[in-house]
Amino acid sequence: MAEAQGGRVRPEEASAWEALVTTARRTVADGLVVGTSGNVSVRVGDTVLVTPSGVPYDRLTPADVTGVGLDGRQLLGTLVPTSELPMHLAVYRATDARAVVHTHAVHATAVSTLVPELPLVHYMAAALGGPVRVAPYAAYGTDELAGHVLRALEDRSGCLLRNHGTLTHGSSLDQAYDRTAQLDWMCRLWLTASSVPGLTPSLLTPGQLAEVGERLRGYGQPG
Ligand SMILES: [Zn+2]
Repeated sequence: MAEAQGGRVRPEEASAWEALVTTARRTVADGLVVGTSGNVSVRVGDTVLVTPSGVPYDRLTPADVTGVGLDGRQLLGTLVPTSELPMHLAVYRATDARAVVHTHAVHATAVSTLVPELPLVHYMAAALGGPVRVAPYAAYGTDELAGHVLRALEDRSGCLLRNHGTLTHGSSLDQAYDRTAQLDWMCRLWLTASSVPGLTPSLLTPGQLAEVGERLRGYGQPG
């Protein structure tokens, strides 16, 4: 069994760490993050495993397991957790999220500088709970930013952070990751459609989005 200074790593934490590193590398490979400018976390019981600060994801090994309690106290590992930890912990304390993905994805960040809410350009907004809000700006790593993010996330599983990036959560790393990818794609779609001179994109109505929300809730289930 792998062991990290500061605490013994349980098997379920070791496998969650492996999945976390895979997800973090995916954000870079898919162009949602440049270098180490994003972070990923996953909750195992009351321990939150999180990417460490400033270590390229391709250098992370099973021995680098980094974990904190919901109060931020380090329980596993000796690497310093991401400086954006307060935002991750705030989401776990306030929601039933099991995983959080934060990126500086370029299309989403561009949209965050233009509007207070992503216009309803596509029905996939329903997969995030409705129109995606932009959290007001505050310096990275602050409790103030964490508070803004929580308010923007009300009844949503994702939001934009003004002049900063994205945050999504889900019941698994895959779900949180997919929501980030969908969110950046929707932002790219709106930027593309709204950049045609002389034309304005048509938007969905709240009623049209609600109808899709109903369908998505039933998706994949029997009956
Ligand atoms: Zn950031």
